Amino acid sequence: MKQLVAFDLDGTLAESKQPLGEPMGEALADLLDVAHVAVISGGDWPQFDKQVASRLPERADRTKLWLMPTTGTKLYTYKDGSWTPVYAELFDDATKAKILEAFDASLEATGFVPEQTWGERIEDRGSQITFSALGQQAPIDAKEHWDPKFEKRKVIQADLKQRLPGLSINMGGATSIDITREGVDKAYGLKKLRDASGIELDAMMFIGDAIFPGGNDYPAKELGLDTVRVRDPEETLAVMAGIVACLKK
Ligand SMILES: [Mg+2]
Repeated sequence: MKQLVAFDLDGTLAESKQPLGEPMGEALADLLDVAHVAVISGGDWPQFDKQVASRLPERADRTKLWLMPTTGTKLYTYKDGSWTPVYAELFDDATKAKILEAFDASLEATGFVPEQTWGERIEDRGSQITFSALGQQAPIDAKEHWDPKFEKRKVIQADLKQRLPGLSINMGGATSIDITREGVDKAYGLKKLRDASGIELDAMMFIGDAIFPGGNDYPAKELGLDTVRVRDPEETLAVMAGIVACLKK
């Protein structure tokens, strides 16, 4: 018997970056009457608040809802009338300092120290640190000219990998490099959810629009969960109605 239904957010519960539609809010309230519900997605908490938390109807039993921003490296639950962080796997100050030092050393070693920078170069998104080579306030023009073909960053990335073992280092926007812990995906988040909720993986199911090799929901299937692949939120509504019918007393 399933006790918890976990969902992807964008493309599954809502259109990309959009708030839940009203029928979806009602469907989640129906589902929360018969099961625990989790939502796991790459966005940070403000995005979850805007898309999900603030869109639920009054009657929804929020105490059975588990919200997992940044691919489950954060968990929010509803306690005493408000959404409360249960955990957030942030980089500690020592790691942040180490990352900053590694960037300086790396720029020096590769010969790509920029002539000028604008503002802070490190942006702390909690479980992700983004390094902007020219600084966060750099004018677009300067950014576009610094590394349009990723040539500098490929060299810096290779150098950084040596300096920062155990971290995942990827190129982001025009001048940026993103650093996260290695091995963070939805399987990782769902295991964290099992530990936090006490609900075993075989009592969970997962619904998402990207359950195929290379899709960001695929790790849930590889983890061994029962999964349902949906095309869009419309189809998710149909699947949810089926689950509610099977689970209600
Ligand atoms: Mg999706």
